[in-house]
Amino acid sequence: MSDLTSLSMADALAGLDAGDFSSKELTQSYLDAVEAGQAINAYTTVTADQALDMAAAADDARAAGTPGPLAGIPLAVKDLFCTKGVLTTASSHILDGFHPEYESTVTSNLWRDGAVMLGKVSLDEFAMGSSNETSYFGSVENPWRADDGQSRVPGGSSGGSAAAVAAHLAVAATGTDTGGSIRQPSSYCGLTGMKPTYGRCSRWGVIAFASSLDQAGPIARSVKDTALMLGSMAGYDAKDSTSIDTPVPDYAAALTGDIRGLKVGIPKEYRLDDTPAEILALWDQGIDWLKQSGAEIVDISLPHTKYALATYYIVAPAEASSNLARYDGVKYGLRVPGDSLIDMYENTRAEGFGEEVTRRILIGTYVLSAGYYDAYYLKAQKVRSLIARDFEQAYQSCDVILTPTAPSAAFAPGENADDPISMYLNDVFTVPASLAGLPGISVPAGLSGEGLPLGLQLLGRPFDEETVLRAAGVLEEAAGFTAQPSKWW
Ligand code: GLN
Repeated sequence: MSDLTSLSMADALAGLDAGDFSSKELTQSYLDAVEAGQAINAYTTVTADQALDMAAAADDARAAGTPGPLAGIPLAVKDLFCTKGVLTTASSHILDGFHPEYESTVTSNLWRDGAVMLGKVSLDEFAMGSSNETSYFGSVENPWRADDGQSRVPGGSSGGSAAAVAAHLAVAATGTDTGGSIRQPSSYCGLTGMKPTYGRCSRWGVIAFASSLDQAGPIARSVKDTALMLGSMAGYDAKDSTSIDTPVPDYAAALTGDIRGLKVGIPKEYRLDDTPAEILALWDQGIDWLKQSGAEIVDISLPHTKYALATYYIVAPAEASSNLARYDGVKYGLRVPGDSLIDMYENTRAEGFGEEVTRRILIGTYVLSAGYYDAYYLKAQKVRSLIARDFEQAYQSCDVILTPTAPSAAFAPGENADDPISMYLNDVFTVPASLAGLPGISVPAGLSGEGLPLGLQLLGRPFDEETVLRAAGVLEEAAGFTAQPSKWW
């Protein structure tokens, strides 16, 4: 890592403002790092020329005294965001050669504020997964390795985003979180990642997985960087009917470090029997840190938690099966010819989708089919309401909720690949807030026995990202997590 790539976003902005270096220099350092870091397999497309042009424009804006809030900051973009004229794949074979005619609102907002696009980063195919092993472009490696030198997955689905940021191949990255895909990879890679409230960031131009759950958010190396980036990503968008028209606060200003009197809820249902002792110990440590900082700890109950995973794995595939119906070989991407139109559809979809995506389409089609709709989909929707109501009630007695982010540290490649259920169990602590549409953040808080990062999750009330960030800032300060992966790439 060069000196420039070791800077946080906040420090890089300060250095750019002070004229210590230009965005072109900063961007070139990152492009060099991306080149040297190919073994991680985080990037699917590198947009070097575009990055240097954007950097030059940011330098000009700074010289003219009109820099945007993120002017000159090089970012990676999850390859689920449509980027105008730049290959966008969702890490799927079926989108072969897809160059969108439009830019997603979230990335437009980032470029409006002066950020620089380094390229597109890998994900689990169509954001379905927890390990980035289902990408058509191959697995992404976690920059972190266990003490014994064994590789680990970066988590998923935003595994390319997290790996790129952890290896300093980008200052920060966009992610999307449908059931944990920002928070879990952040936890696995020792980073901070935030899923904002559903409706806070526009979904327009983000390739849809499960529309009632999908939400964009930042993955970064600190809480402050997360706050800065969210401020640019968020905002009302008339092109997304679920976007909420409420002003974007100054998230960085919310990081006062003062949580005296803040009520932190601890849900008893998250204390699962089979959760490893080191995860429970870190959770207790987190409780202690917040208490020592003046927070009041409150025991709460979220009684329908045990149904959240099953509910999610009905609702998400149902919506996915409908959203993915558009990939038919006609409108964009791959086309595999056939003797008839139907044959062409079938050949294209059979070849274009990977195994996990096919599984989700089958499950989703099944739970939506006549005769099963009431038993599965409708029932799941009702349970989803109960889960949301649990949170509403809990927030009458607390302001934020503290839990572990994931039930383990990053696992080894292949460890869960043949067993979808054990893979799905990874999402146990993240899906409830997704079903309820609530904001959540993962903050790196310690190392596992194997020397791998572990995160703690803070959840908040709808559109109260500020309180979540404030508490996260205190947690970050108390944890003092400064460990870095040792460089092998
Ligand atoms: N791991 C979850 C899934 O496979 C969540 C993915 C996500 O948030 N995009 O559906």
